[in-house]
Amino acid sequence: METMGEPRTGADVVWKQPIETGDVPESGTSFDAIVVGGGPGGASAAGYLAMEGQKVLLIEKEVWPRDKICGDAVGGKSLSHVRALGVKETLEATPHFRVTGIVFSSPKGHNVRVALPEEDVQRLEAGYALPRQQFDHLLFDQVQQLVRNNGGAVVQGGDVRNVLYDDGAGGQDPGAGTADQRHATGVEVRIGGRNGPTHTYLAGNIVGAAGYRCPVAKSMLEESYEEPMLDRDHYCAGYREYWRNVKGCEDNVGDIEIHFVDTIIPGYFWLFPVAEGVVNVGVGMVMSLLDKQSKKLKALQTEVIAEHPLFKERFADASLIPGTGKGWQLPFGSPRKKSSRQPRRSAANGVFLVGDAASLVDPFSGEGVGNALVSGEMAADHILNHKSPEAYQEALWTALGPELTNSFRMQKMSRRGWLLNWFVSKAAKKPAIQEMMTEMIASKEAQENLHSPWFMFKTLMF
Ligand SMILES: Cc1cc2nc3c(=O)[nH]c(=O)nc-3n(C[C@H](O)[C@H](O)[C@H](O)COP(=O)(O)OP(=O)(O)OC[C@H]3O[C@@H](n4cnc5c(N)ncnc54)[C@H](O)[C@@H]3O)c2cc1C
Repeated sequence: METMGEPRTGADVVWKQPIETGDVPESGTSFDAIVVGGGPGGASAAGYLAMEGQKVLLIEKEVWPRDKICGDAVGGKSLSHVRALGVKETLEATPHFRVTGIVFSSPKGHNVRVALPEEDVQRLEAGYALPRQQFDHLLFDQVQQLVRNNGGAVVQGGDVRNVLYDDGAGGQDPGAGTADQRHATGVEVRIGGRNGPTHTYLAGNIVGAAGYRCPVAKSMLEESYEEPMLDRDHYCAGYREYWRNVKGCEDNVGDIEIHFVDTIIPGYFWLFPVAEGVVNVGVGMVMSLLDKQSKKLKALQTEVIAEHPLFKERFADASLIPGTGKGWQLPFGSPRKKSSRQPRRSAANGVFLVGDAASLVDPFSGEGVGNALVSGEMAADHILNHKSPEAYQEALWTALGPELTNSFRMQKMSRRGWLLNWFVSKAAKKPAIQEMMTEMIASKEAQENLHSPWFMFKTLMF
């Protein structure tokens, strides 16, 4: 594992320890539900199902402790789930950065600070930033106990390779039924690496929570329905590094920063402190737009840090934590023009996709942890109450569609440098705009106001 320096990464901290998850169940064992992937989406689905007494099998490909490439910001939306799953207090007892606001800068270098809602900050409900290695470890450890205490089982180092289906009419030949008739019946999992044995586990409900390359999503979308998974207009490439001693990022409470830098537009550069002097620094860009750039994300980031007038001073005494520079993909939840299901198909008979597997990352902010937790709970609810795949698809888009659509509009606006310059300089001078943005973060009603051209026009112009 990479070391991030003392004291955060002392080998003694709990999230650097292995997690004991018990014996691997025998091949052929049946469960009420199988959850594939132990990130936030899978932990949420497995936790909520286990709390209702379901016999769950939770399968994770990696073995803890493990890293996850992310900006590490855990927004307010996540916190009710973190609490409900029983991990909020444990988490708050470990080092973390408490977010009080977001600073945006425009290509011309104007800044605007959007305070997070004061009440939420005071109630410790506003959001944190902390390494995903730590967040996911605490969550997974809590959930694996819930799963095992309720008659289920947990497998680490289990790579799900295949989803099994029947023909929907009592037969076992999936080829005999159409995609709409087939019903998922289980999974095949390779245990313990390349040369390990393959086990079969059975369940009438499979939750696909294995991120942007989820094998359950792949099986359902590409193999059953012949619908593409990767869409370069709606997938984002992200690159992350951890740094120490970046000026202005020393405290454990404060703002996270999103910078629209001219050399990175149409993407953005972020600085998210994660406490104890460590900062998550990264860049992200929609993949089809990145295809048109001559430089890769890593090179763009290196250039900004070394040369940009706003940042080179701040990084003058900073040091990159070796081995932390890594890239990953973010499947955005922006509505697709060609799809009849938004943002894309997320369920079939016996299959429920959650989090990145369902392409639910916010297309403006890049946040996906909150929607992974929310969709995990929704999938659990649909399984517990025997609701249909169509009902899940609809419930998901009803709950998340308006904000994802809104964020997509903002993402498209942020591709225009002149518009960003105009907006940020205006917002920097007008408290009413800053308040509107705070409200937007806080309440659904305020988000709806943004759909009203008159409201936007009034706030921006007068
Ligand atoms: C660079 C970057 C920056 C980001 N910044 C932020 C941010 O600041 N805030 C935010 O909220 N979100 C951010 N996101 C998005 C966020 O990381 C994801 O949306 C979130 O992790 C989704 O959770 P998930 O549980 O759906 O998937 P994941 O977190 O990807 O978890 C999937 C799990 O499934 C496991 N798995 C994979 N394949 C298999 C298999 N075959 N069998 C079994 N298990 C498998 C994986 O090992 C992993 O543990 C960022 C993403 C990137 C790439």
